[in-house]
Amino acid sequence: MSEEFLPFSRPSISRAAIEEVVACLESGWITTGPRVAQFTESLQAYLSAPYILPLASATAGLHLALLALDLKPGDEVITTPLTFAATLNTIILAGGKPVLVDIDPYTFNMDLNQVADAITEKTRVIMPVHFAGLPVDMDMLYALAETFDIRVLEDAAHAIGTVYKNRRIGSFGDTQVFSFHPNKNITTGEGGCIATTDAELAKKISLLRFHGIDREAWNRYGKSGNQDYEVVLPGFKYNMMDIQAALGLHQLQELENFIARRTELAERYQEALIDWPQWQLPSKPGFSHRHAWHLYTPLINEQAAQMSRDEFMQKMKERNIGTGLHYRAAHLYPYYREQFGFNPGDFPYAESAGERIVSLPLFPGMTDAQHDRVLDVMYSIFRE
Ligand SMILES: *Cc1c(COP(=O)(O)O)cnc(C)c1O
Repeated sequence: MSEEFLPFSRPSISRAAIEEVVACLESGWITTGPRVAQFTESLQAYLSAPYILPLASATAGLHLALLALDLKPGDEVITTPLTFAATLNTIILAGGKPVLVDIDPYTFNMDLNQVADAITEKTRVIMPVHFAGLPVDMDMLYALAETFDIRVLEDAAHAIGTVYKNRRIGSFGDTQVFSFHPNKNITTGEGGCIATTDAELAKKISLLRFHGIDREAWNRYGKSGNQDYEVVLPGFKYNMMDIQAALGLHQLQELENFIARRTELAERYQEALIDWPQWQLPSKPGFSHRHAWHLYTPLINEQAAQMSRDEFMQKMKERNIGTGLHYRAAHLYPYYREQFGFNPGDFPYAESAGERIVSLPLFPGMTDAQHDRVLDVMYSIFRE
């Protein structure tokens, strides 16, 4: 009990990143400016994406990407119930209706085999989540999109650094949204970005991102060379600041190292826990990929553990170890139930995962000794 609290996640911020933030603050330019431009280029290089739009958050990115897709009232967006509220909320805020498809019980990703049945003439977008950093089957996803002529917006909040068949998520396909929240694989404090291959969509998002202000339009009308602009639509205030980009520039340089350490730790859990009847471990799909290990999320077997997930989390907390809950099944939250008529039993695998899933401590700065401590404490909890 004397040991200090171990959080389930903690960002690793280098001295160089801190100095970059200080340099930014001292430079006199702290909002969107040269460092955001530099971060944009770095992301472009890392993701080999034609268009990159840094933003205040991934939630802002999902919101703007969906708005830019021009959903009409009643338009349907297919997504997963095992996700963060932002996924469903932004669909609703953009005027769409979330349509859910259950998860695959082994990978925790949306079960793409069930998507065709959920498609109607109102379906406009498929919006999968690469859960915990494990890619969905991209060949299958894009085959569905092509067959039914619908757009794809990947909620890639967990997936910076995820690779599908030798290609990074964000380097191909339609449109992806990444998060740089402090719990995610790289952080800018708050922040996120959109990657897209669609030039028109990128243009629209860049207007929506900052008040609908168009400097090019002003220049087109022959008044170039000054700071003036036109307002061409009512936009939001979703831009990223240079202070954030200062962090992001250094985080991105370290991403590969971060993922290497996350992978070691995740594999260490897999090896240590494989014979424990108290756990059902995450499993890998057959296609070639690199998991980004944003989260390590086994399911508790309540019978063998003789406790619920919530009891387990409580006991860990009493022993100074933090765990996370990603996620309870979204369709059971009151707002979505009331608005869209979801009921318990609608998506049984997501519900079962939602009751049993735990995020164990996993972050690049975690030591082997801390990892051993998590295993020891879990062992003692289950032995009681
Ligand atoms: C974190 C997260 C978001 C939101 O990201 P923010 O940058 O915090 O807005 C959206 N979807 C999923 C699946 C997430 O995990």
